[in-house]
Amino acid sequence: MKNRRSLVAANWKMHKTVGETVSFLEALQDRIEAYEDREVVVAPPFTALAAARQAMEGNKINLSAQNCHWEEKGAFTGEVSPAMLKDLGCDYVIVGHSERRHLFGETDEIVQKKTASVFAHGMVPILCVGEVLDEREAGRTFPVVNHQVERALDGLNCRLVPALVLAYEPVWAIGTGKTATPDQAQEVHSFLREKLSALFDKTIANKIRILYGGSVKPDNVDALMAQPDVDGLLVGGAGLEVDSFQRIVQYRFPGE
Ligand code: PEP
Repeated sequence: MKNRRSLVAANWKMHKTVGETVSFLEALQDRIEAYEDREVVVAPPFTALAAARQAMEGNKINLSAQNCHWEEKGAFTGEVSPAMLKDLGCDYVIVGHSERRHLFGETDEIVQKKTASVFAHGMVPILCVGEVLDEREAGRTFPVVNHQVERALDGLNCRLVPALVLAYEPVWAIGTGKTATPDQAQEVHSFLREKLSALFDKTIANKIRILYGGSVKPDNVDALMAQPDVDGLLVGGAGLEVDSFQRIVQYRFPGE
């Protein structure tokens, strides 16, 4: 039994209208409980956040945005600020997703500013790190994630850090159907926890939830969640369908 409450999040990316969002949430809420040992989060696109908040009853599901700017307001056409997301009732913001880093040129410096700003606005960042295939094949996974974590958390107030959610998402596993094996995930999660311990301390490191993301599906979720340092999941494709996301939320430990 892990002492961290797990977190299972669906990142919908650029999918779902307002109507589709509301239907999904109504169906999901009917099928799941308000669990004590696990937290369920959905990350709809910006356009559906307000409707999602309204459609959520009780405490069964929490709300995340997928991205934000780091400034509170200003002349940044097309951007959305953390203050606006807080105002909509967001609990979390995904920061540094590989699609933001690789398709939209987000640097480590930008990821650091967003991480700090999300915390400063009373929400929790779900900070994504992960190596591309060439880096894994060159044996550089640890130095790559080490650098990403170090840069993103630079200057962060220690008081806020225990709430952080870190997501290890090997880029070669995102949307490809290739999942990291449970052992590969555990190896990197354990490395990341050691890193957090070195940056802060062991007590803080043991509180931070480290999610795995990359082609999580109903048929691999149980084995991934059985790993001692896998504290939850960040789910893309399989989070778009109620059936598959429900099964992922209802992961089971061996023997249960
Ligand atoms: C993601 O986008 O964060 C992700 C993990 O996607 P998928 O589950 O589709 O690989």
